[in-house]
Amino acid sequence: MKSTHADKPLLIGVSARIHYPADSPGIPGMPFGGVWSKTVHYLEQSVAHWLLAGGAAPVMVPAVDSQSPQLRSDLSPGALQHYALALDGLVLQGGNDVAPQSYGEEPLHADWHGDRVRDLYEIDLLRAFVAAGKPVFGICRGLQLINVAYGGTLLQDINTQHPLAREHRVLGQYEKHLHSIEFVAGSRLAGLFPGVARATTNSIHHQGIKALAPGFAVEARCPEDGLIEAIHWTGPSFVAGVQWHPEFHDPANPHTLDDRPMLADFLAAVRRKREPAA
Ligand code: MN
Repeated sequence: MKSTHADKPLLIGVSARIHYPADSPGIPGMPFGGVWSKTVHYLEQSVAHWLLAGGAAPVMVPAVDSQSPQLRSDLSPGALQHYALALDGLVLQGGNDVAPQSYGEEPLHADWHGDRVRDLYEIDLLRAFVAAGKPVFGICRGLQLINVAYGGTLLQDINTQHPLAREHRVLGQYEKHLHSIEFVAGSRLAGLFPGVARATTNSIHHQGIKALAPGFAVEARCPEDGLIEAIHWTGPSFVAGVQWHPEFHDPANPHTLDDRPMLADFLAAVRRKREPAA
């Protein structure tokens, strides 16, 4: 039987987490060396497995910071366009804080400087995929990055700037820390979970959306404090994000949201873009 284009798995780019040389976990008494003395780009296994379980093929996209003075002389700042052309969709991984500079603020605390290099790289990547009309999904930092890229702002630290909020991150518990979310009636996300008004998700963030970017709709909130937990672009292509980490939700766990319909919806949008109905 003749193989068709549709048999090929969807190729989903995943933005890289970045290890900087200064973070090197050296052996006591030994100078940092080897690969840890270099910048390393990495993909978290749980994100890769989440996409593989959904039937897609994840591909990590290395970081290129088009504004870096260290950019090698023969690398075009537009090189990330290759990925937007070659891949079918994009997932923005979780990770470090978004830098306050990226939304026009200065850090309120020395620890909240974020990762400006990664911001610039991911904003370039996001724009390239949106320009190509290819779907984008953001996880945690990814949701925040999308909001900032489209003109929104963030709370640099929820506890400081929204003192009545519940805990959205508990150090030491990581993905075991859970809270309720409430779907916004009539939203796309609510439509994927018929009859489910509230659910329980993990929560591993100390930043959150302050001002929602123009052109975005809120799809879920934390009912205890109103914090935004999911967004969707109202523009011409698929751009969405969630503040929780679906890659840590085990569908076999009855206590947390089985958010596989959300991944399936994203991948269906990716497939529709790749294979428009004849
Ligand atoms: Mn939360």
